[in-house]
Amino acid sequence: MENLAVYIHWPYCARICPYCDFNVYKSRGGDADLISAILDDLTGWRDITGPRHVTSIHFGGGTPSLLSGENTAQMIENIRQLWTLDKTCEIALEANPADADKAGWQAYRTAGINRLSLGVQSFHDPALKALGRDHDGAQAEKALRLAKGIFPSVSMDLIFGWHGQDEALLHADLDKSLALAPHHISAYQLTIEPGTAFDRAEQRGETKAVHDDMSAALYEAVQSRLTQAGYEAYEISNYAEPNHHSRHNKAYWLGEDYIGVGPGAHGRITEDKERFATVAAMRPSDYAAHVKAHGIGAEMEPLSPQNWGDEYVIMGLRIQEGISLSRYEHITGGRLNSEEISALKKSGHLAKDGDTIKATPKGRLVLNRVTEKLLT
Ligand code: SF4
Repeated sequence: MENLAVYIHWPYCARICPYCDFNVYKSRGGDADLISAILDDLTGWRDITGPRHVTSIHFGGGTPSLLSGENTAQMIENIRQLWTLDKTCEIALEANPADADKAGWQAYRTAGINRLSLGVQSFHDPALKALGRDHDGAQAEKALRLAKGIFPSVSMDLIFGWHGQDEALLHADLDKSLALAPHHISAYQLTIEPGTAFDRAEQRGETKAVHDDMSAALYEAVQSRLTQAGYEAYEISNYAEPNHHSRHNKAYWLGEDYIGVGPGAHGRITEDKERFATVAAMRPSDYAAHVKAHGIGAEMEPLSPQNWGDEYVIMGLRIQEGISLSRYEHITGGRLNSEEISALKKSGHLAKDGDTIKATPKGRLVLNRVTEKLLT
């Protein structure tokens, strides 16, 4: 039976952060229609995928920590009845530190959640304010301690590269993170995405992110501090203690199959050797109407072998495993440019070991340029 990862998108947030370009809507309340559309969508997907072995379930958003323990239990149980749940299935939920609540989180644990991913972002109060977050550093710390007492695996997100951050402020955030010792840290560089409030502010001349040279220095500082502390840099932005890699995210990076349910969720499904990209309707009401009319909330678009291969390279070079040249050939029927591979190896951006190529630490710093060279 083939593996399957399941992503559930809960699109509501109590407030919208000015750097966020996810499919989100401002609301704290529940949405019974959306819950029932998600449950029906899962059933619709079972008809398409047939029996599968579910290796991970990920509640993302949005802010899925606005969901009740009862609702998460209902969705997990639905998945358990539709497919076979792996004995070690990772069941993760993204949570906002402002929603930390002992009884609520214990209810998540009882529902089956075994990994909590906390959107800490920083412990520095002025930075949290500038990032539009509704928690402060003390709340983030308290939430992390609480999570570690309830869940077997705890991850935290950190954002670096906000305007005004220097190396000393970054080290202060890293000191605090390491002292709290989460099992996994995702450290993302702040990027200004089109259409966000930060993008509009930058267009008015207000600076929101550090300049490029500084962000490279901050990235290197993150890499060296976290790896020296014993975290494995297993992906370009992700660091883990042994056995705490994000199994769900690895399904994306390794090019495995995953379904996405909930408004705007993306998926990738392979059927009869053909790969499909799926994307669900964006607005909650459109999504629910799509599920009602078509059985699932998404449209399925076939990916050409070349697009499938490009995606395999773009995602696979992010992780320490790298990519298999023969798998690329198997997907596309063509070969990656061997002259470009040799040149990137010579310049220290790529390492090659038999059939595998991977990005070196130097290559990770300019990964977009490396993949562009390989794919053009
Ligand atoms: S809480 Fe997360 S998903 Fe919601 S607006 Fe902020 S960054 Fe976006």
